[in-house]
Amino acid sequence: MSYRDIRDQDAPLRLLSHMLRRNRIPNGLLFWGFGGVGKRLTAIETAKAINCTEAEDDACDKCLSCRKIKNGNHPDVTIVTPVKKSRIIDVDTVRGINELAMLRPFESQWRVFIIQEADRMGIPAQNHFLKTLEEPPGNSLFILLTEHPGMLLATIRSRCQRVRFGALHPRTVCELLRRERDLSQEAAESIAAIAQGQMSRALDLVDSDKREVVLDIVGHLDAGDDPLALAGEFAKYLGTKRERINGAIKAEFEDPAPGSIGRENREEQKKQQLALAEALIRRDIMELLYLFETWYRDRAVLAATGDPGQVLNRDQLARLEQAGPADLDGALAAVDKARLYLERFLNEERVFRDLFFALAKGAQALAR
Ligand SMILES: [Zn+2]
Repeated sequence: MSYRDIRDQDAPLRLLSHMLRRNRIPNGLLFWGFGGVGKRLTAIETAKAINCTEAEDDACDKCLSCRKIKNGNHPDVTIVTPVKKSRIIDVDTVRGINELAMLRPFESQWRVFIIQEADRMGIPAQNHFLKTLEEPPGNSLFILLTEHPGMLLATIRSRCQRVRFGALHPRTVCELLRRERDLSQEAAESIAAIAQGQMSRALDLVDSDKREVVLDIVGHLDAGDDPLALAGEFAKYLGTKRERINGAIKAEFEDPAPGSIGRENREEQKKQQLALAEALIRRDIMELLYLFETWYRDRAVLAATGDPGQVLNRDQLARLEQAGPADLDGALAAVDKARLYLERFLNEERVFRDLFFALAKGAQALAR
């Protein structure tokens, strides 16, 4: 691989090649943008390019340095990944990075640290990292990857050159999905359209039951079934989801990584892990709401244009076309209202119950 093989990211690649050609390499690079759009690949290719003995502004992919990095056994390239299910990068990990950064590179010109999901560093970890970034050892390059730059300290952000990654083309997502998972072209196109160019989101839609659950509920709502019963089932589903996430994170806290003890540290970690569980649950809830929105959005688009090419849930076209009359503007307004309430942390069970009632009422009013 080299920069040339990375898809749909012309602007960041131009910037990086330019930087390499002029030999103006900052100590910190902040790659930000949606998940699954090529940040990690680009970071690895940058580590290769900066140390490549053959090519100037890209990786040759053939020299010893390029090959070692490709095989993950280059002593001067370190990839840091949040560990365990809670996906925290803790203070000890950052301490390790700082110590390693003090050493001269073993065999290449640059020592490169790729920190995936850099926003998973808690504030104490970020403060530790900042010390190294403030006085960076000569030939160290830190590449921070994040979907949420706002969760990094402003002092860290300001010491990195920002490189923004955009979404992938739906065609690319569709192609990659079919390579990674066993999906029909139609299903892959639907998922790619719904995921809006974010590969990790597309994979989550394939691997989780979210879409199945939402399609089942809208089917029942379209058929005029009792919204209260549906809301009850959905609340149970959310409850199980919450328990599972909390359970996984709690189990991990009771089984901390070796060497990371100290009561204060533990209290701090517990707080961080609870916050993280809540963030994960909320992300799932917002994604579920978005899936409801795509259904009514598709129905509205189809009613207005009759053009199946504009539909997101393409593999559901027959169902979308057969759905009875409904107040689609009202449905979309109800989804907007639900989103607003969820953003204000109102009780999610109640928000979804109200939403289901509004959606059912819209369908019934016109069916009469
Ligand atoms: Zn090379």
